[in-house]
Amino acid sequence: VMQTTEFDTIAAISTPPGEGAISIVRMSGEEALQVAAKVFKGKNLAEVASHTINYGHIFDPETNEEIDEVMASVMRAPKTFTREDIIEINCHGGIVPTNKILQLLLQNGARLAEPGEFTKRAFLHGRIDLTQAESVMDLIRAKTDRSMQIALNQLDGNLAKLIKSLRQDILDVLAQVEVNIDYPEYDDVETLTTKLLKEKAAEVKTRIEDLLQTANQGKIMREGLATAIIGRPNVGKSSLLNYLLHEDKAIVTDVAGTTRDVIEEYVNIRNVPLKLIDTAGIRETEDKVEKIGVERSRKAINQADLVMLLLNASEELTDEDRKLLALTQDKKRLVILNKTDLKTKINLNEVKQLVGPDELLSTSVLQNDGLDELEERIAKMFFNGIENSQTTVMLTNSRHIALLHRAKDSLDAVLRGIDAGMPVDLCQVDMTDAWDDLGEVTGDSYQDELLDQLFSQFCLGK
Ligand code: GDP
Ligand code: ZN
Repeated sequence: VMQTTEFDTIAAISTPPGEGAISIVRMSGEEALQVAAKVFKGKNLAEVASHTINYGHIFDPETNEEIDEVMASVMRAPKTFTREDIIEINCHGGIVPTNKILQLLLQNGARLAEPGEFTKRAFLHGRIDLTQAESVMDLIRAKTDRSMQIALNQLDGNLAKLIKSLRQDILDVLAQVEVNIDYPEYDDVETLTTKLLKEKAAEVKTRIEDLLQTANQGKIMREGLATAIIGRPNVGKSSLLNYLLHEDKAIVTDVAGTTRDVIEEYVNIRNVPLKLIDTAGIRETEDKVEKIGVERSRKAINQADLVMLLLNASEELTDEDRKLLALTQDKKRLVILNKTDLKTKINLNEVKQLVGPDELLSTSVLQNDGLDELEERIAKMFFNGIENSQTTVMLTNSRHIALLHRAKDSLDAVLRGIDAGMPVDLCQVDMTDAWDDLGEVTGDSYQDELLDQLFSQFCLGK
């Protein structure tokens, strides 16, 4: 149930906190133009044409004090992000004037927006569906070009289109079943209906499974492929790390309020976002690392989606090498024979017995040799096929994934029911459940709590 207060006039600072050249204070709602006009010296914002940018000054109507020189964009409903009247005040980037402008808007009739409330309104007014709303959030969080592209793709409504077509298929068959049930005078109605239900349930289920298959890649895109660089001391781990972190490829996230031990470092390798595990360990002095060597590696291996295990090609294989090879044998891994610029001493036959040809490669990090090949292997491992098909919809959102699993379970129930000879109207119930689950992905059947929870994850001002 929507309350009317949901459509009062809201305001928030839309640009990230901190100093920038320009900040934007955004306001949306029925009174947006009137509220802005009260604190704006220049043209009357309540009367200017839609989609215009207006030069002027923000002032405090009580004291007549001038706050800032600004540009105010006026966008009237319905051609706006929220489908309501929107004002965006571009002011000078300082924290003090920006906050002061927001305060003035709040004192003159606007209310502080909740996180995600602008996007929520866009959804409530039917401007975007739920997958699109979520992709706005993903865009804000996107860490690599590729995940940006997926988010944009979703913003285009590709996932929604696909989900809607699945729902249509289910609806068609449900309608057919209904018709058949209404005409029981035909002989083998029950058989025919059952057959149709079974076919369609199986077909939609396959398509959902295909979609779910993309979820793993999607998760990697979103969160980064957790990657551990391991190997005994002096094999070249730090050198490789430095190479990977070079060339502006690195994005370092300093998780607020934590020590350097959990600094997450992201690198973008041919559009595969790697989240490097335990780089603090690799960067510590060698003695320290050695003391906690294998134990620390074991921990990193456990967390990793991908392990890069370095061996020193210019030395004999050691027991520690063998231990690390054994520890990683069930992992997705690349075993890197480093220091190939030196005379080879490693027993290649033994290595080849322990390591598959797809996993093995040679480098000289020192001489920048084999590193292109390494990057290519990483990309290949994860984008077989996917990289080429730009149209692929990729699941990246855990809520979508959970709902699709639920829909798949419902379809499984339909199929099990049919095989067990259950009456067709019972199977029909499960089929309807699947339709509902899919509807929740796009928000075609949504509940209030879901919305609140979802939109509260947004940043303020979005
Ligand atoms: P880590 O202990 O595994 O982190 O190894 P480092 O990256 O600190 O490297 C140890 C030493 O090996 C350093 O002196 C590096 O310059 C050197 N090194 C790294 N990679 C190579 C390589 O490919 N060839 C040669 N000859 N030396 C290398
Ligand atoms: Zn090191």
